[in-house]
Amino acid sequence: MEVILVPAFADNYIYVLRDAASGKVGVVDPGDAAPVQAELERRGWTLTHIFLTHHHDDHIGGAAALKDRYRASVVGARADAHRIPGLDVMLGDGDRTVFGEQTARVFAVPGHTSGHIAFWFEAAETLFSGDTLFSLGCGRLFEGTPAQMWESLQSLRALTEHTRVYCGHEYTQSNGRLRADR
Ligand SMILES: [Zn+2]
Repeated sequence: MEVILVPAFADNYIYVLRDAASGKVGVVDPGDAAPVQAELERRGWTLTHIFLTHHHDDHIGGAAALKDRYRASVVGARADAHRIPGLDVMLGDGDRTVFGEQTARVFAVPGHTSGHIAFWFEAAETLFSGDTLFSLGCGRLFEGTPAQMWESLQSLRALTEHTRVYCGHEYTQSNGRLRADR
């Protein structure tokens, strides 16, 4: 599975995925449609799947426009169905979802928000952690408790050793700075 980074806004990462075997093309957390569409057009790819980790606007803001344009299927948390418009596939903890020849396992990871999920693509050992796990840090606790976030991080920690983690923001430098200040 190919993963392409599409930077958006000040520090968001949107990810475009392509399953080579089937030609299916996905996007994770498209907060903005324009840079995703530009990337797809540049590569001549047609979007089939939209994966959403949580309801915050900087993660779903471009989903409706991309769904309209490409008739892509929107995949997200059942727990967030009331606040993520246009969900086609609703998932909960332990569910699996198919993307071409790839299968992603869903982890409920409450803490940053109550409905937050992470997608772990099993064969590719690739995790999309949204705003739960960052480089040198975890997401801010808007809706969950520290205990919930800790449990969520433990479930991600249990993933295979070679798992690559793709997070929702580039916070490495600011997380490092905070640590140095303490
Ligand atoms: Zn967020």
